[in-house]
Amino acid sequence: MLSSTRYRPYFSYKLWADSEPAYGLESFHCEMKRGFRRIRNQEPLVKALIDTDSNAQVIGHLAQRGVFEFHADPQLLDRSDGVELVADLLQLQQLDPEIAERVTLILERYHAQPILRGKQILILERGDEKLPKPLLLKLQRKQVNFFAVMDCVYIEPDGTIHILDFKTGKSKFDERQAYTYLFAAQHLYPGQPVVASFYNLESQKRSRVIRTSPVQLQRLEIIFAKIAQQLAENSNHHRNNPAAFNLIFQPNPGIQCQHCPFPSICDYAEHHDNTHPED
Ligand code: SF4
Repeated sequence: MLSSTRYRPYFSYKLWADSEPAYGLESFHCEMKRGFRRIRNQEPLVKALIDTDSNAQVIGHLAQRGVFEFHADPQLLDRSDGVELVADLLQLQQLDPEIAERVTLILERYHAQPILRGKQILILERGDEKLPKPLLLKLQRKQVNFFAVMDCVYIEPDGTIHILDFKTGKSKFDERQAYTYLFAAQHLYPGQPVVASFYNLESQKRSRVIRTSPVQLQRLEIIFAKIAQQLAENSNHHRNNPAAFNLIFQPNPGIQCQHCPFPSICDYAEHHDNTHPED
């Protein structure tokens, strides 16, 4: 049996993404990746691979930090040298030139079109936070640590709470992330109207504005409880029988190994050139 003092089931958008493929990406889904990331994550080799940020992750963190710095001192948005000053704060000149170039472009675009300007901002993350604090929620009568770290929350002029998630790169907006935030928001901002959306700081594209109904929130609770419980059961199973790792978390090698952090330790990996870790 799992001891409640040792392990409390948890839920996060990333666990959802590791547990169920996004629509249309079913054939690329690998359960074993979830096993490495969620169960074997304290093994030194696995931990080192998880802790190694890919270029995409580094760019995402720096872009968020750039937005944070612009709003920590809003005069930077008015100054013609604002981009250079923020680039200095981010120490871009010390980074890989390709990363520095992409982040500089992001800063220039944000400086030209600062979408948070004039907004009543409640939360704006720096982008370099350590382990986030979970909400302790009861899902389907079970206590669950619920992680929902929001990049930015602001209040619309009509009082609606708007949760905004920043993106970089070419990945599609995954609305499951917005639903995770909207679910958390009913506990963080009870009784208040809440919406969520995405904004890509590189392409300057916005998503649609996403809302939830009470019925959707009930359905989400069932999904979240199931995913948290499934991982708890997998964890228990693996603890009792570590040799069954590949049966509990079945591998699905293929092109997806190229975008997986674990080919160097995975017996089933398909190796390709230019393999690199990803989120
Ligand atoms: S390397 Fe391939 S098979 Fe192994 S965990 Fe990653 S995606 Fe799955």
